[in-house]
Amino acid sequence: METFRYDLVVIGAGSGGFAAARTARDLGATVALVDHGPLGGLCILRGCMPSKTLIASSDLVADIRDGAELGVTAGAPKIDLAHIFARKREVIAGFADYRIDGIKSFPLYEGLAAFESATALTVGTDVRLEAKNFVIATGSVVAPPIVPGLVEAGYLDSDAVLETSRVPESIVVLGGGYVGAELGQFLARMGVRTTFLIRAKHLLSTEDRDVGDAVTLYFREEGIDVRAGVLLSHVDVRDGKKVVHYTRDGEPGSVEADEIFYALGRVPNVGGLEIERAGVACHAVSGIEVGPDMRTTARNIFAVGDVTGYYPLVHVAIYQGELAARNAVLGAAEEADYALQRTHTVFTDPQIAAVGRSEKELQAARVPYLSGSYLFSDHGKAVAINKTKGFVKMLASPDDGKILGAAVVGPEASDLIHEVIVAMFYGGTVQEFAKIPHLHPTLAEIWTYPAEDIAEQIAARRTGAVAV
Ligand SMILES: Cc1cc2nc3c(=O)[nH]c(=O)nc-3n(C[C@H](O)[C@H](O)[C@H](O)COP(=O)(O)OP(=O)(O)OC[C@H]3O[C@@H](n4cnc5c(N)ncnc54)[C@H](O)[C@@H]3O)c2cc1C
Repeated sequence: METFRYDLVVIGAGSGGFAAARTARDLGATVALVDHGPLGGLCILRGCMPSKTLIASSDLVADIRDGAELGVTAGAPKIDLAHIFARKREVIAGFADYRIDGIKSFPLYEGLAAFESATALTVGTDVRLEAKNFVIATGSVVAPPIVPGLVEAGYLDSDAVLETSRVPESIVVLGGGYVGAELGQFLARMGVRTTFLIRAKHLLSTEDRDVGDAVTLYFREEGIDVRAGVLLSHVDVRDGKKVVHYTRDGEPGSVEADEIFYALGRVPNVGGLEIERAGVACHAVSGIEVGPDMRTTARNIFAVGDVTGYYPLVHVAIYQGELAARNAVLGAAEEADYALQRTHTVFTDPQIAAVGRSEKELQAARVPYLSGSYLFSDHGKAVAINKTKGFVKMLASPDDGKILGAAVVGPEASDLIHEVIVAMFYGGTVQEFAKIPHLHPTLAEIWTYPAEDIAEQIAARRTGAVAV
């Protein structure tokens, strides 16, 4: 076995690991990457990019369907699944090739990494790497199925849904998180009879109630059966169909379908890493324990991205990777701040996006706030382009109007949220926000209404008048 030495060894060349490696190299460190492949990372190969490429087709189905309202009919959309999935493969191959070129600009060891100690690891059977510091960025894997009978009946996970080019006639989606919601709606729009079974009262249970309720309503309006408040019991197979049994309010129920989409989340991936030999503490569900400086319980070993169990989002993995690299190479103790980093979006139609704190978080923390909201159905540009589903909401401090958070359910939510992210980045208030010029007619100008509304509420509180 041959031994090589580096300042930093990064395990996992996905979004978090690649960002860490690039940052450390820019700071002058010698850096190696280890990855067992396939190279490219979850986002490019089996996450953000393939799902959004597919969703572009299902969004178009809805636009064609809604075209009649704008006086344009193109007939019933003809769906060419083979083409949709071939396009996805081609697009992803392009992204992956570009990323693989970047990965190969580092010394790359392809194989399974396993720690020997806090300062050395092996890659397969031939290579041993020693380093002053390590970054673990090994991502996540689909959570093991917990529903009795599911393994025996067979199911699709998100990897399989993204890879399939044949869709079943009917499907049951287990779980109402963002992966289930995005891909479940995609399948429904591809003509699959789709039923969601969710434990919470609405899809996207971590969002505020008004946000989750709106999405659930829109799903139901387009014919998706969303059964909420459900406790899964077991799965069996009857006459070739998969039957999911559940209870709701104590009453038994079941759904029969050709296929099951298991979308009950992902768990940190530490399989085979032997992290205990390096003194790195890890919890099976919440992931590798890290401090705000991304150090694990072994001070020279850092962990970033999905494996830490923090917000499983690409921009968070990159942020953590860059921060960990700076701390490792410079011996610094810079701390992560998630106040804005936890910004997120869901690419359902309509989309969802949120920044800062939600109403339920502010209420739980007993933080006083004022809120203002505005419906897209009352907004000129949204009405003009016939994208009237949803609303925007802004939350601000009653004392000085500082913006505490915002959410959008609606057209282009994933882009619209950036205006509030920028305002919050600079510590903006609703009074300042209301003064920012907005072009007319645009979707973006919808934000001025909740900002003005809250500014008026604050002014009224100061003068003792009642805002109407
Ligand atoms: C369907 C789906 C859609 C998503 N959509 C979005 C989205 O729209 N926006 C968003 O921000 N996020 C999205 N995500 C989440 C996002 O993809 C992840 O948060 C992000 O890719 C995690 O990056 P990472 O660097 O932590 O891990 P990964 O990108 O998973 O990288 C881990 C790497 O480690 C390697 N590896 C693992 N173990 C070892 C080992 N022992 N030895 C050597 N190599 C190893 C793997 O081969 C892999 O290359 C989505 C996820 C899914 C599943």
